[in-house]
Amino acid sequence: MLGGLVLAIALSWQSSYARIVFVRVGQGDCTLIQDGGTTVLIDAAGADEFVDLGQRLAVPELRRLGVTRLDMVLLTHPDADHIGGLAAVAGRWSIGCIGIPARFRGHPAIEALQKSLPGCRWMWIESGETTKFGSTKMSFDYMPSGRDNAGSLACLVEMPGSRAVLTGDGISDTEVWLASRHEWSAELMKVGHHGSSTSTSPTWLAEVKPAFAVISCGRGNPYGHPTASVMDRLAAAGAKVFRTDRDGTVIFAPTAHGFQPVNR
Ligand SMILES: [Zn+2]
Repeated sequence: MLGGLVLAIALSWQSSYARIVFVRVGQGDCTLIQDGGTTVLIDAAGADEFVDLGQRLAVPELRRLGVTRLDMVLLTHPDADHIGGLAAVAGRWSIGCIGIPARFRGHPAIEALQKSLPGCRWMWIESGETTKFGSTKMSFDYMPSGRDNAGSLACLVEMPGSRAVLTGDGISDTEVWLASRHEWSAELMKVGHHGSSTSTSPTWLAEVKPAFAVISCGRGNPYGHPTASVMDRLAAAGAKVFRTDRDGTVIFAPTAHGFQPVNR
């Protein structure tokens, strides 16, 4: 159990239903998990010197979704398209704590973020730790070596009858490593690295066996995400694909037979 993490989570979201929301934030990631009055955000959209997608997209969309505070924000890794929007999000809502893999402690981008958010409490997540809120259990793992993308936080989200996996911008080496450690089968998969060809390996698809795959990417992004090869692999695996660039924000709710999309 993450030390103190459960204690840090306060009841804030009064609805009794649970859901996973893949928030449309352009090219970047922002996933909302809500259950039993607790709200957890995984990544907080991107920002660069030209545009703050946290301010422009994440904040208004999270407001529309009824967010009133964030009990925990998890950062998968220090890339700007995952952490750049956090300042805008933190400027709008109180954040109970911020969690990131312990391997990124001391990373220049994280140290800069810590300085810019002096009031926030940070949690350094170790592989194998878990946290629970409502009827949700989240289990964490990450590869200890390799570049930042490769070390992205991997999360298994379990709600009654339902399982989802999220791997940030983890690469195929990450996926092979994760598959060798645990059982990750899940009907709902967030596609790694915005649909880059570096992720969503045959090994990972055979491990997860997703019925639904969600790709978070920006319309007309300069990286060509999602790549045709990933779309082909997802089609061959029989996964129904949702894309935030085309479908907007995508919401899934747990059922006795797994996560199901609820807004279409
Ligand atoms: Zn990314």
